[in-house]
Amino acid sequence: MGDHVSKRLKLSAETDMEERCFQNPYPDWDQRAAGPAADPEAEPGELPDAEGQVSAAFQRKVQSKVKDLLQQMEEGLKTADPHDFSTYTGWTGIALLYLQLHRVTHEASHLQRALDYVKRAMRILNGRRVTFLCGDAGPLAVGAVVHHRLNNTADSKECLSRLLQLQRSVLSPDAELPDELLYGRAGYLYALLYVNKEIGADAVDQSTITEVVTAIVESGKNLSAEQKKAERCPLLYEWHNKQYIGAAHGLAGVYYMLMQPAAQLPADVLSELLRPSIDYVRHKRFRSGNFPSSLSNESDRLVHWCHGAPGVIHMLIMAYKVFKEDKYLKEAADCAEVIWQRGLLRKGYGICHGTAGNAYAFLSLYKLTQEKKHLYRACKFAEWCLDYGTHGCRIPDRPYSLFEGMAGAIHFLSDVVKPEASCFPAFEL
Ligand SMILES: [Zn+2]
Repeated sequence: MGDHVSKRLKLSAETDMEERCFQNPYPDWDQRAAGPAADPEAEPGELPDAEGQVSAAFQRKVQSKVKDLLQQMEEGLKTADPHDFSTYTGWTGIALLYLQLHRVTHEASHLQRALDYVKRAMRILNGRRVTFLCGDAGPLAVGAVVHHRLNNTADSKECLSRLLQLQRSVLSPDAELPDELLYGRAGYLYALLYVNKEIGADAVDQSTITEVVTAIVESGKNLSAEQKKAERCPLLYEWHNKQYIGAAHGLAGVYYMLMQPAAQLPADVLSELLRPSIDYVRHKRFRSGNFPSSLSNESDRLVHWCHGAPGVIHMLIMAYKVFKEDKYLKEAADCAEVIWQRGLLRKGYGICHGTAGNAYAFLSLYKLTQEKKHLYRACKFAEWCLDYGTHGCRIPDRPYSLFEGMAGAIHFLSDVVKPEASCFPAFEL
């Protein structure tokens, strides 16, 4: 889906799924990829070597493409919607990309650009939504971090205090607020955890985080009771009357946030409510290893971060870290197989439903296991992104944005050369 709001009807009818995946153009490549340059199509030393290091030649290629795409993006942004301040498709997403580029290159000009873009975003906030990806919390959290990096302490604190003011509507029980990541409470929780990670653990105090976490847990318990699912799935969430599974609108995204160590979910809630709910979702998986878009959907079609294995894999990886049970890791590896086979998308190169977002699954699994197979796969998807625009993919509605377009591909490319420090934007912590 493009705009998750305007295409909601289309989404709920699930008719926008005519898009098919590309066949992976590297058949049986894995079997041969046991050592350096095992892929005959690759020039020696192009991909990660036997130690799992991304080679200097590949790094140079990626870095040069990043520069090239960045120029195209800047040119393209001249005609972008001036009123879209969001992280998902607007100015804050571009600011977040420049923060990332500053993190990996330490070039001061990137930080300055991040400031320019986030200021542009903060001038046009509308008070309509509370999340990091689609609401005011994104610009305010990114603004707090950019100002902090520039040692503008007063400005950073001002952003933080405005971020915390949003809490009232997040906690208000009469608010018609969902819990999912794009528009709901989990998307506000992410903003709080993000500023604590970037600025320091006392930027937002733990009691505030606990209040938000409690609101999410209570909401999940209530829906579960209402739907008489307390036995099977004690924490249940829905968005527009549909119980989605994926990372963007669904259970996997909410559970993933609740499992973050910094969320400090009480141990009994973790074991008695969250864990059985995660296992309930696990049992919905298709024979292929992929996951349905919602609890009521039976068709194994979508392989996106927003719907399908590329989002659910992050929940499984986190469940493995928290519960230390091999079944979670095994199923995460199965997700990676699905993504490897079917994860190059006609929808393009972006983060939400594109190749870059899918490739982050390999990076996350690589960080966890240190198995170089996963890094190879991330590099192969990066190679695909290096040929940006040549595969006949559909042009997204916001072609230069972070979650739909070019900025997302640049973010991924800048991460793939430093895989240990890679981080799925607006999601991983
Ligand atoms: Zn999507």
